[in-house]
Amino acid sequence: MQTNEEKIETEVVEEKKVKLYNKDSIKFFPAGILLKDISKPEITEVDNHILQLIDTLKTMVIDFNAFGLAANQIGEEEPIVMINADFKGIMINPVITQQSNEIKSIERCLSFPGVEVTVKRFNNITVQYLNEDFEEIVQDFDGTNAIVIEHEVDHINGITFYKRASAVDKPKILRKLNKAKRVINRNFK
Ligand SMILES: [Zn+2]
Repeated sequence: MQTNEEKIETEVVEEKKVKLYNKDSIKFFPAGILLKDISKPEITEVDNHILQLIDTLKTMVIDFNAFGLAANQIGEEEPIVMINADFKGIMINPVITQQSNEIKSIERCLSFPGVEVTVKRFNNITVQYLNEDFEEIVQDFDGTNAIVIEHEVDHINGITFYKRASAVDKPKILRKLNKAKRVINRNFK
């Protein structure tokens, strides 16, 4: 039997799944590549594989209507993220060099369908990265831009928001995630 809350949640997952999960492209927690630090080696030159990966990240972030996407979420090991908040752009080799003003953030993640997690983030950050034209950038961000960048840079450091969640929330996260995975699997047999 489902409680109303569970039923609604399942329906939301079912409604979204056709659009979101009709390809086997997004890696779900706890896939090994999500737990792997892919920040090194840094990318030092652009080749066809990198160009194709950038293109795929840009397309998928739009298709999935996501705030951001990291390369390891689609099974690739290059340190590249796509940010799709107010700031939109590719970040290659991104490193957060400064952070301040801790805040609480409620987040979702394509690798955790059906799950919402409250984590501590910083409202103000400085990021060093290469843009799509391979120019070295040092840039300040705040608010949602900062939070999304922190979430995506975490991904390429092998850190999911599960790791940052409270001990109380962790079992709930796994329960909801497993339920959503069952719905997705059932509908794509
Ligand atoms: Zn994520």
